[in-house]
Amino acid sequence: MSTTETFTAYASLKVGEKLQQWQYEPKPLGGNDVEIEVTHNGLCHTDIHMKDNDWDVSSFPLVAGHEVVGNVTQIGADVTSLKIGDRIGFGWIRNSCRVCDPCLRGEENICRQGYQGLIVGNHGGFANKLRAPADFAYKIPDGLDSASAAPLLCADITVYTPLRTYIQYPGTKVGVVGIGGLGHLAIKFARAMGAEVTAFSTSPDKEAEAKEFGAHHFCNWKSQAEIDAASGSLDLLLSTVSSEID
Ligand SMILES: [Zn+2]
Ligand SMILES: [Zn+2]
Repeated sequence: MSTTETFTAYASLKVGEKLQQWQYEPKPLGGNDVEIEVTHNGLCHTDIHMKDNDWDVSSFPLVAGHEVVGNVTQIGADVTSLKIGDRIGFGWIRNSCRVCDPCLRGEENICRQGYQGLIVGNHGGFANKLRAPADFAYKIPDGLDSASAAPLLCADITVYTPLRTYIQYPGTKVGVVGIGGLGHLAIKFARAMGAEVTAFSTSPDKEAEAKEFGAHHFCNWKSQAEIDAASGSLDLLLSTVSSEID
């Protein structure tokens, strides 16, 4: 396949700049790569950190987007796990060494060589097409619509992993601090995993919503009486806030 094809993206051409349409020539499709036509993309706060080069790892023009869902349009010669037309997703990690002990046990996020991010030194999913290693693609199940699947690829996995690791029996008492983008997903997962869930928030008006998501209990973080009442009642506390609780 020709390497002179151009992809149409929305890019920040310089640090902090708003996205604008931009075209680029993709790298040739490697033997282990897959190409998708992008249909959906979640928006993660990390995309904004990358746009602003907050971590000093961004390169510009920057094409962000790392909660990507699309349909396979090309597969590399060595790819056996996917076929053209498959609906797949890519998340934050694009590649890793694959041979260190964390990689071999499925923890590529702590690869000893350092994993490669989808949008670090690479163009991401805010584009009509994307190429990435097939081994890091996730097949999207038929019963899951693409718009719902996209945020599962980064935001969700962030809360899924600790819950999957530490909820080991039904009725585990789990507290979720912060009922925002990550927190509401954590409530849903913890509930689905059989936990008894307490939502913690500084916004009492989130109680009804938290319970709709599956929380059994709600605790107003600003109420000392409610905090005292919850004291000692949990097996696991998952904080999804970086500073103030929302
Ligand atoms: Zn993200
Ligand atoms: Zn590794």
